[in-house]
Amino acid sequence: DDRLQRISSSIRVIPNFPKPGIMFQDITTLLLDHKAFRDTIDILVERYKDKNITVVAGVEARGFIFGPPIALGIGAKFVPLRKPKKLPGEVISEEYSLEYGTDRMEMHVGAVQPGDRALVVDDLIATGGTLCAALKLLERVGAEVFECACIIELPELKDIVLESGILLQGSSDLT
Ligand code: IMP
Repeated sequence: DDRLQRISSSIRVIPNFPKPGIMFQDITTLLLDHKAFRDTIDILVERYKDKNITVVAGVEARGFIFGPPIALGIGAKFVPLRKPKKLPGEVISEEYSLEYGTDRMEMHVGAVQPGDRALVVDDLIATGGTLCAALKLLERVGAEVFECACIIELPELKDIVLESGILLQGSSDLT
């Protein structure tokens, strides 16, 4: 797919952010190139349309940028998965491990129903811990997770991701 090269080169890498040694993949430069942004959404809509997906769940914060246009494109509802204490209604939450310590992801009760078919969207997969937490939240309320879609996959972490057992096709296609 010749659109992938343009998408890939529109993503900026910033060394030593947010701390020394980290090569931060910055998708804000992809958003500056409307053709690359359009192509990113088009590729994912092409992949997920007509798959009976009823909900797109976006992981805070960059899943809120890519998730809604995909949801509109495939005709599904959008549900934000947020950091703790951001959602105003009743929530269910899932704790997950970070490199140092833990974090928690929350979802509104009632936003996803038993039998919903879900696509999880985030910008980047590293260890897969964040997407696993999203997957657990959705499965706890009775949804079926069809796939997880990311724009960027960190190749050096691929083995860890595979061990975590999550569905990788969406992210692999775009790297
Ligand atoms: P994981 O849980 O280890 O897979 O990390 C993925 C999460 O960390 C995603 O929510 C990403 O947005 C975030 N993340 C990790 N590294 C980067 C990066 O280089 N750029 C943008 N987001 C990142």
